[in-house]
Amino acid sequence: MASTPRSVDRRSVDEHRAVVAALLTPMPVEDVPIGQARGRVLAADVIANVALPSFDNSAMDGYAVRAADVAGAPVELPVAADIPAGRTDVPPLHPGTAHRIMTGAPLPAGADAVVPVEDTDGGLDRVRFAAAPDPGAHVRRAGEDVRTGDVVLTAGTVLGAPQIGVAAAVGSATVPVRRRPRVLVLSTGSELVAAGTPLRPGQIYESNGPMLAAAVEDAGGSAELLRFVPDDVEEFLGRLRDRMTDGAVDLLLTSGGVSAGAYEVVKDAFTGRGVEFVKVSMQPGGPQGAGRVAELGGTGVVTLPGNPVSSHVSFEVFVRPALRAALGIRTPTGPSSRPRSVSTGRPHPRRQFRRGVLDAVTGTVRELGGPASHLLGALARAECLIVVPEDATELPAGTRVETWLLDG
Ligand code: AMP
Ligand code: MG
Repeated sequence: MASTPRSVDRRSVDEHRAVVAALLTPMPVEDVPIGQARGRVLAADVIANVALPSFDNSAMDGYAVRAADVAGAPVELPVAADIPAGRTDVPPLHPGTAHRIMTGAPLPAGADAVVPVEDTDGGLDRVRFAAAPDPGAHVRRAGEDVRTGDVVLTAGTVLGAPQIGVAAAVGSATVPVRRRPRVLVLSTGSELVAAGTPLRPGQIYESNGPMLAAAVEDAGGSAELLRFVPDDVEEFLGRLRDRMTDGAVDLLLTSGGVSAGAYEVVKDAFTGRGVEFVKVSMQPGGPQGAGRVAELGGTGVVTLPGNPVSSHVSFEVFVRPALRAALGIRTPTGPSSRPRSVSTGRPHPRRQFRRGVLDAVTGTVRELGGPASHLLGALARAECLIVVPEDATELPAGTRVETWLLDG
């Protein structure tokens, strides 16, 4: 079957992704203490000022020896010195003697092996060795892990625990990172009320705000919430002007108020003010808008549709990649996984993002809920998005599809 051509008045997913990405420039660089760097994105390579290990040292609690002196084990030697970790004035090892040594303590000059205490009688003045060590046994060599001048972390790395560990080990007190993009998350809709308020008929609890703020933080940004803005253009613009003075916000992210109905406050307020409203060839999440609003200091604005699943999916498709690119992360589209076999319903001539759960044993993915964009309960149980390309005409069970993991 021939693929259905994309209708001309629709913008492709990739085109809209590029429009959104262009609203953010690379974030400025700031130095943060290493203890506050978790989850931040490195802005420059970290170079080792010291080697790791920085000196030859013992891998065991035991005795530093010349292997040749113990070759005829069982053997007994006098203990000439005691070397705890941290000793900085280690005397050299003379032939025919041993030094008691602890894990991490510097290997004395002249020693070439460590015999673990378990292979000795543990003597303090004299020590008896039960077995002969190989030369080099239980010695950690200077530079065997990292050499001075090595790049231990490259710019664009997201700092997790091991990366913070290595930066600290090579002596970094602070690290240069990209400032978090500051995103103002705004919810509109006169039907929305806050948790704790009893619902009157026709009202719903506001959920896109907290959801999108969490998504922003998860993508490395910092989010501020502005909720319960009524569907009134003047009040809407006024509230925004108050919050967006002097470049305090890098991106305004709205949800709702952009579809084809009446009372679409986001569309009404931003039409003719720099935001272009388009239909993107995807499902869910067709109605989208993006641009810069001069009255708000030229700040980038992305308007997501209001249905919760559409909001979340379009965040993943457009906003997360833009935030990651502004942070300098090299893989802006975020975690995706190997293609998996799928079984879904009939495809659609737009790019579809279905919700799925993974079966690790069989390497397959199963669709969850349905394609409709109000199914937030199913989204919350999903582990991934299943990407169904525009040109797919049928997807029999076993078809390989791209999946995007939803675990951040
Ligand atoms: P709209 O795009 O404003 O027409 O909204 C589409 C659907 O999404 C409607 O059912 C709205 O009630 C719902 N919706 C819009 N904004 C939110 C929000 N912040 N939280 C929860 N649901 C929303
Ligand atoms: Mg609305």
